[in-house]
Amino acid sequence: MPKDAGGLGVKSGELELGSYSPWTWKNVCKIKDKLKDGFGENCWLPDENGYTVKNGYKWLCTQQPKVDWCSLVWNSWNIPKHSIITWLVMQEGLNIKAKLFQFGFCEDNLCLTCREHPETITHLFYECNYSCRVKAARVAWLGRPFPTLTELQNGRKDSLQWKAMAMVFNVYVYTVWHQRNSTRLQHSVMRPELLAAQIEKVAGRRGCSKAGPGLSHNTNGWLSCL
Ligand SMILES: [Zn+2]
Repeated sequence: MPKDAGGLGVKSGELELGSYSPWTWKNVCKIKDKLKDGFGENCWLPDENGYTVKNGYKWLCTQQPKVDWCSLVWNSWNIPKHSIITWLVMQEGLNIKAKLFQFGFCEDNLCLTCREHPETITHLFYECNYSCRVKAARVAWLGRPFPTLTELQNGRKDSLQWKAMAMVFNVYVYTVWHQRNSTRLQHSVMRPELLAAQIEKVAGRRGCSKAGPGLSHNTNGWLSCL
């Protein structure tokens, strides 16, 4: 699926035929037959060559609704492993406790850091008191409040400041998720100020490497120096 439709944008790959069960192939063939009927009977994508797998893929791509977080996740300043976690966040694909509890894989659904509210994606990254303290701890360094998701989705995506803010957001998401997993395994929570310092360090280095020499990530009001 294309990136702007919420996919990973993988265009080609090799399939190992033996690794797919007969059931999978039977269903793939069923879908192909349905597409072929749609092309023939409903003229979904008129083409003198008739139905081909390539035309079917093109048609499927144009039918996907566009997502408004594509630029945020695939921002060129992001560290790739951070993009993947943010992509999972946007797809609600992380194995958070609210989901695991629903399927009986854990004893409660409470947030691991505050232990007060159910651990949902919204709570963990946007509403948890712990996460809010992490974001508030680096206001001086950024020179402005931590960027919100809505602000990033509506911002001017070709500016350096936007690319830097989006990158900082991605570092934040990755670091909070990593910390949450450490908490689960080690039963201890890092002080929010220390986690915020980690975010500043990683985002600052990345920003300096992307913006070029002349930018110091130790400067207060770092974003306005871009
Ligand atoms: Zn919480």
